[in-house]
Amino acid sequence: MSATLTSLNPSTGEPVGEVPVTPSDRIAEVVARARAAQIEWGALTAAQRAEVLAPAGEKLVARADELGELLTREMGKPLREGIGEVRGCGASLAATAKEVADALAPETLEDDHTFSTVHHDPFGVCAVITPWNFPLAMPHWMVVPALIAGNTVVLKPSEETPLIAQAYADVLSEVLPANVLQIVHGADDQGKALVAADVDMIAFTGSRATGQAILGSAAAGLKRVILELGGKDPLVVLDDADIEKAAKFAVMNSFRNAGQVCVSTERIFVDESIASQFEDRMVEMLETMPVGDGMDEASRVGPMINATQRDHVLRQIDDAVASGARVVAGGKDHHDNFIHPTILGDLNDDMGIMRDETFGPVACVARFKDVDEAVARANDTPYGLGAVVFGGDEDRALSVARRLDAGMIGVNKGCGGASGSPWVGAKQSGYGYHGSKAGHRQFAQARVLSRAK
Ligand code: ADP
Repeated sequence: MSATLTSLNPSTGEPVGEVPVTPSDRIAEVVARARAAQIEWGALTAAQRAEVLAPAGEKLVARADELGELLTREMGKPLREGIGEVRGCGASLAATAKEVADALAPETLEDDHTFSTVHHDPFGVCAVITPWNFPLAMPHWMVVPALIAGNTVVLKPSEETPLIAQAYADVLSEVLPANVLQIVHGADDQGKALVAADVDMIAFTGSRATGQAILGSAAAGLKRVILELGGKDPLVVLDDADIEKAAKFAVMNSFRNAGQVCVSTERIFVDESIASQFEDRMVEMLETMPVGDGMDEASRVGPMINATQRDHVLRQIDDAVASGARVVAGGKDHHDNFIHPTILGDLNDDMGIMRDETFGPVACVARFKDVDEAVARANDTPYGLGAVVFGGDEDRALSVARRLDAGMIGVNKGCGGASGSPWVGAKQSGYGYHGSKAGHRQFAQARVLSRAK
């Protein structure tokens, strides 16, 4: 790789800016600086660290328009979503930092013989490796708990979105001591070198294949690992569902962020008695999803991040159609990195588009005859991140939801839980998790100190 990494606007192909690539053989020095800085940072209490970091939230909010525009130019999503991502992370930073600090406060326990205190101490140096689809939020969700737990962090953002990640790290570094948060730029080689370096923990969000490689590499040092991987989320629409609401959710959650979301709806299983109506409503609602440059105010669906991802999605669509899938809507007029939101029907569960993660603006509608069949087909995947059930009888819908083998399951809504819930994948969608008290504690080493009574 050359000495600089040029970030391209996926809507126009034009360069947005560049960053210096960190040579792989310099990563050990970065980690050594992180380790030296950790001594003082780790000596503060979690509550003190939260106080140090909190003002960065206001700084992000104050620059939300500017950084949101950079995010959109670099990644492609509609500008209001780019700005919203920056503002949302900034506005919640102080509260998140405090929530992590509270989760890590020491706990006291006693029985007839022993007094114990459970401390949640730093591991040391944490590598955070992130993807491009939420290029500020993904680093944020892992960097903040890692730092508040008293680790120093080396962030390796996606090579597709280095500029917004650098801007984020720069804002946090305005309030942090030197070398508490550092960034290394590059692609797979830098990621591999960072995992292999003298780090104690790796927090990663990205593809299942990369997660497997990281887990393998981390095994030698028994490094702590948290992996948030892909999904093939099902949406099950029962015969008594509110078709209007279910179709609206299906459209929004299939096409938001151009489908480049780990909890996008990737497979829709709809009761055959309402399937035609459901499809018709989805087609009508497609009008609300114009595709185009994220800087154009009318756009709701931006481009694919790059040509490789575009070709992957188009190949899945073409293969499905060649194997008998019906194009219900869209499926044409794709250009450059833009894929028109596409609805496919008559899908067979053996098709690649029903098995492998798509990560594009495609809604795949399959029909089922009875609920047992729907549950079996929804669970027939190695993934288990999110799932959603729509049904009129909420108790029945909840009982179907309980049978879905996923980490987060929504009934008549998206899969995200109430605040304080973990962000968690089942099966091969995750390994460890974050968010929630238990999730925050995964960035810390539990240490039990006991004395006799
Ligand atoms: P995506 O294609 O969604 O970006 P990847 O899993 O390929 O998903 O990449 C996610 C992040 O992991 C990126 O920052 C990428 O550079 C990094 N990465 C890729 N391969 C490796 C690897 N073998 N070890 C560590 N990090 C890697």
